[in-house]
Amino acid sequence: MVDSNCIFCKIANGEIPSKTVYEDERFRAILDISPANRGHVIILAKNHAANIFEMSDEDASQVYVVAKKVATAMQKVLKFDGVNIMQNNGEIAGQTVFHHHMHVIPRYKNDKVTFEYEHLSEGDILGDEEVAQIRALAQG
Ligand SMILES: [Zn+2]
Repeated sequence: MVDSNCIFCKIANGEIPSKTVYEDERFRAILDISPANRGHVIILAKNHAANIFEMSDEDASQVYVVAKKVATAMQKVLKFDGVNIMQNNGEIAGQTVFHHHMHVIPRYKNDKVTFEYEHLSEGDILGDEEVAQIRALAQG
């Protein structure tokens, strides 16, 4: 399904031109127009899903395969020192466009990119009951 009001649907399906580094029947990977670092790519599914919760299992399982292909090719060309592969769900998590997209962000020694956070104390670790509930739901 394509959402006709979604800019990432239009880009993923070629209605809006983009600098494409990878495309197959399900995905298009493009240069981010507001990159965090040199070579920042985002991978867009051609089917609209706002976030991981809406995404099909097929797209969810394939997006990381695409990320591996793109990151491997980028590493050969850009010779980066590391790479962050990340994906945000919800405004609080930093999502700004509500069409699922996976970031591939090359990292270079002495770059200015940060994803810093303070580690919580031991008291903030989940309790056994929460772990059991999550495990039961996740495993079905
Ligand atoms: Zn969309």
